[in-house]
Amino acid sequence: MRPATRLIRGTRCGHDPYRATAPPLYQTATFAQATATGFDAYDYSRTDNPTRRLVEDELASLEGGHGALAYSSGMAAVAAALRLAPTGARVLVAQDLYGGTERLLDRLDLEVARIDTTDPASWTDAVFEGAHLCYLETPSNPLLETTDLRALARWTRRHGVVLVVDNTMLSPWLQRPLELGADLVVQSCTKHLAGHGDLTAGALIAKERALYEPLAFQRNAEGTALAPFDAWLLSRGLKTLGVRLERAQDTARQLVKFLRGHPAVTRVRDVGMGSVLAFETGDVARSQQVVEGTELFSIAVSFGGVASSISLPCVMSHASVPAARRSAVQLPPDLVRIAVGLEDPGDLIADLDRALSAPRGQPRPATASA
Ligand code: PLP
Repeated sequence: MRPATRLIRGTRCGHDPYRATAPPLYQTATFAQATATGFDAYDYSRTDNPTRRLVEDELASLEGGHGALAYSSGMAAVAAALRLAPTGARVLVAQDLYGGTERLLDRLDLEVARIDTTDPASWTDAVFEGAHLCYLETPSNPLLETTDLRALARWTRRHGVVLVVDNTMLSPWLQRPLELGADLVVQSCTKHLAGHGDLTAGALIAKERALYEPLAFQRNAEGTALAPFDAWLLSRGLKTLGVRLERAQDTARQLVKFLRGHPAVTRVRDVGMGSVLAFETGDVARSQQVVEGTELFSIAVSFGGVASSISLPCVMSHASVPAARRSAVQLPPDLVRIAVGLEDPGDLIADLDRALSAPRGQPRPATASA
């Protein structure tokens, strides 16, 4: 099956006596046993639930892994992945990471070593020697820098380092890290996979059973699994992943072209894929005015939803990154990030044009609705 078909037809809910075309929702905590000693497939939803299992099978199939585990948020999945490294272990971490992941890394008892995953020339045996885990996002967020996963995986494999890739930015529709050599994929399903900005969810997708089993044990022990109704919503969102992302990506390309030609824009960052782009104006106050001057873009963190949003990462999604780290990764304070949704591209461009062309210092119009 090709990807678009797999999204719709790839995983079926078995054993439904009524053959519902949309999967039933098993909104239950407990499953009754036939006898006191005879255990069936499911007994308690913290451990396993048919609705959640359905979406996990879909995620495993999309990413090409042995198995997937759905969590109550992307951060719950990130935390579970990082705790694969034992206390005090050396972990290799990319320079430019989501702010919440930075905040967590700050508090975990790990020896965090930064590596430039975007620059293979900086990798040596000494860098990887003795490391337990390597964690990165590609493209990074919000600087949109990319890592050659295939090349990096050759190093991590040689040194027995677990390679963990946060694939939230592109989703398995556009990138499949497990096929490029990663061991574990992280997804904030809150973004593209659920796709409607109406739930928080996360997932880990493991290439091998050996990694999947301890993660499943830990999730059951801690009770961080995704609730059945949210799993059902996620499964519904997944069906349209391809059409949503293709459309948003196409609009993003049109916005990039427009921004590259606009005199108020000093630099545009984009990787030619996905629905997130960023630009600079050379002036923080000006960038803030643009962010607050649009009417169709919500001033909001996150991405991958049907509604477009605009943000100043330095004071929003990445505010929890310590100032020293922000300057180490050269996160420009005037950087504006746009997460493209499904509105008409012409409307979005006209709105941005209005905000970028407004005279300096002009306050946000009273009609602004975002
Ligand atoms: N990873 C990335 C790349 C993110 O952008 C986010 C959230 O913005 C997360 C992980 C955390 O996901 P969640 O907000 O679902 O906990």
